[in-house]
Amino acid sequence: MSVLESVGSNQQKSASEDRNTIALMYHVLGKAEGPLADPHYAIQMESFLSHLALCQGAGGGVTSARDWLEGAAGVIFTFDDGHESNYHLAFPTLATVGATADFFVNPAQVGTPGFATWSQLREMSEGGMSIQSHGFDHRYFLTELTTPRLREDLLRARHEIEDHVGQSVTLLAPPGGRNPPRLVQIARECGYTHVLNSRPGRIVSDQSAVFSRLAVTAKVALESIEAWLNGGTALVGLQIRHAILALAKALFGDRYYQQIRQRLLDMAPA
Ligand SMILES: [Zn+2]
Repeated sequence: MSVLESVGSNQQKSASEDRNTIALMYHVLGKAEGPLADPHYAIQMESFLSHLALCQGAGGGVTSARDWLEGAAGVIFTFDDGHESNYHLAFPTLATVGATADFFVNPAQVGTPGFATWSQLREMSEGGMSIQSHGFDHRYFLTELTTPRLREDLLRARHEIEDHVGQSVTLLAPPGGRNPPRLVQIARECGYTHVLNSRPGRIVSDQSAVFSRLAVTAKVALESIEAWLNGGTALVGLQIRHAILALAKALFGDRYYQQIRQRLLDMAPA
């Protein structure tokens, strides 16, 4: 970074240094059906409505990362994978209360059984929702894809979503939370401004290129979300568990990681 660039970024920072929020990561709403039938990631509507009410009240609103970066206030809501419940349940619920969210989709899965279609995603976009990239086909970055192939897929995903949905795609959520060190650089070269991973933590500045997210699973109680909103030590346990899982991924690869993840899920209330 040159001196001039560094001065410029410091000026931006001082203008926005008190921006601070959390981003929640959802997958399926309602019953876990179809190809994404993992009940661990399915949130019943009753629970989702209570999360929404809590975040709208105590969290100062509910918004997408895209809109937050444009200055909107509140808790960031995101959905990964493009499950059809994103269209049937999340979209009308959020729209009714004037909230928005980012929906991270894989072009290769759009319109296949269990997933939202392009016309549904377009309707969501026209209704104020942010449709973003979850990679091209949900393969894990740099463990299942080489760097040149990853570049190709990131560009292809962005262009396909932009062509079908008619809004610009600037945010990337890596599938499976895989977040190799070079990812931000590669993503930037492919036209993305921010990477939203699944490393638990708060978002303390809109100047960072990487946003942490908190996974909302079926085991997460409303009190946990309340504690996350309040910050403090509530995130430490999650961060330790995430560090163990990241180490397992690095040491043993994806197959053993899945086994270890399952054991941790069985053990610890999230
Ligand atoms: Zn995913």
